[in-house]
Amino acid sequence: MVEARGPLQKSVTILGATGSIGDSTIDLIQRNPDSYRVVALTAHSNAAKLASHARALKPEMVALADEGAYRELKDALAGTGIRVAAGAESICEAAGLDADWVMAAIVGAAGLQPTLTAVRRGAQIALANKECLVCAGSLFMNAVTEHGATLLPTDSEHNAIFQVFDFDQRDKVSRIILTASGGPFRTLGHNEMGLVTPAQAVAHPNWSMGAKISVDSASMMNKGLEVIEAHHLFGMPENKIDVLVHPQSVVHSLVEYADGSTLAQLGSPDMRTPIAFCLGWPARLDAPVAKLDLAKLGMLSFEAPDDVRFPCLRLARTALQVGGAAPTILNAANEIAVARFLGGEIGFLDIAGTVEDTLEKMASPQIATIDDVIAVDAEARRVATQGAGQRAQRRNVAAAE
Ligand code: NAD
Ligand code: MG
Repeated sequence: MVEARGPLQKSVTILGATGSIGDSTIDLIQRNPDSYRVVALTAHSNAAKLASHARALKPEMVALADEGAYRELKDALAGTGIRVAAGAESICEAAGLDADWVMAAIVGAAGLQPTLTAVRRGAQIALANKECLVCAGSLFMNAVTEHGATLLPTDSEHNAIFQVFDFDQRDKVSRIILTASGGPFRTLGHNEMGLVTPAQAVAHPNWSMGAKISVDSASMMNKGLEVIEAHHLFGMPENKIDVLVHPQSVVHSLVEYADGSTLAQLGSPDMRTPIAFCLGWPARLDAPVAKLDLAKLGMLSFEAPDDVRFPCLRLARTALQVGGAAPTILNAANEIAVARFLGGEIGFLDIAGTVEDTLEKMASPQIATIDDVIAVDAEARRVATQGAGQRAQRRNVAAAE
């Protein structure tokens, strides 16, 4: 089943192969199938989609986190010779298989252990899963250094910075500037934001993405998580990481130097550009992305973020300043709140409220090990679930009155 590896083939694994980033990665791989050998594909529970990708890409192994979906996947791949596994450990097992390059595209802190497994064998990691960096920050970066892994930032802003950041003269970088689209509620007032529906929140104006990151974009928690992500990836202090709202999503981020130069990376809002950059690194690939026509665009606009209407950005900055367990708590509470919002239980403004309450209710112990991260993450989920439940109850009472 597994063909001999050609001299120029890169072996690749995709964690989160059925998601938005997974789809874009697979699209690029399928355009140059001879250049890649797929080692493993993983997903949460979508057996049919994972099986279809597996039939096309012929990996050694596929794994689903949800054990309940094992039978369906096993039956769908009967006779292919592809190893099928299920359960959280099987995702780590897949990440541990010998692949040169791993796309880390699981959503949420669920991606931490599998991504770390790939880090610990010194692989090249295309990092889309920002939550694992937010919740485990320095411990994650220490593991990258200790095991000689290579981190390739895939998040569009961080990929842009990676492309224009002068690592040999980092003392001459005065500021990095993350651009933000502002999301679907950029111009909405506070009261209107209290009434928005999950369908409105996931309808991003420029990017097509998974539900969780789409809600994070709408609340601007995504930009808050990205400030923390940038701090760890580029070793910049919080006060040298700025956010600039840029509704067209063409300038993906900027690096400002001591001599007054500001370098930016521009491109169409299509994740296949940063993914291709990571997949080919250090070489550039061809990507099927619409080239920019600046004359046609005519105008690019920029504005300062409003952290009164978008408190999540402020909460994330504070968590980064406080340090210790605060970013882990912020991330876990946000994951719970977003899931409750998507489930129709709490309102949009309750997302920031739940995160703020959880940060206030929990002391921020220092985090020394990954086990500490996992324990704090679990406790923050418990506290946030309780807080979101109370908010849901108050909402139901108000609706009944
Ligand atoms: P998505 O929801 O479309 O896909 C998530 C993937 O993770 C799916 O394959 C799903 O099956 C898998 N998954 C979910 N829970 C899991 C679990 N508990 N165990 C194992 N696998 C699980 O999300 P996405 O939009 O592709 O985003 C993935 C990650 O990339 C997120 O961290 C997001 O912040 C980041 N990111 C996404 C984009 C984008 O354009 N979509 C851009 C930048 C960064
Ligand atoms: Mg981004």
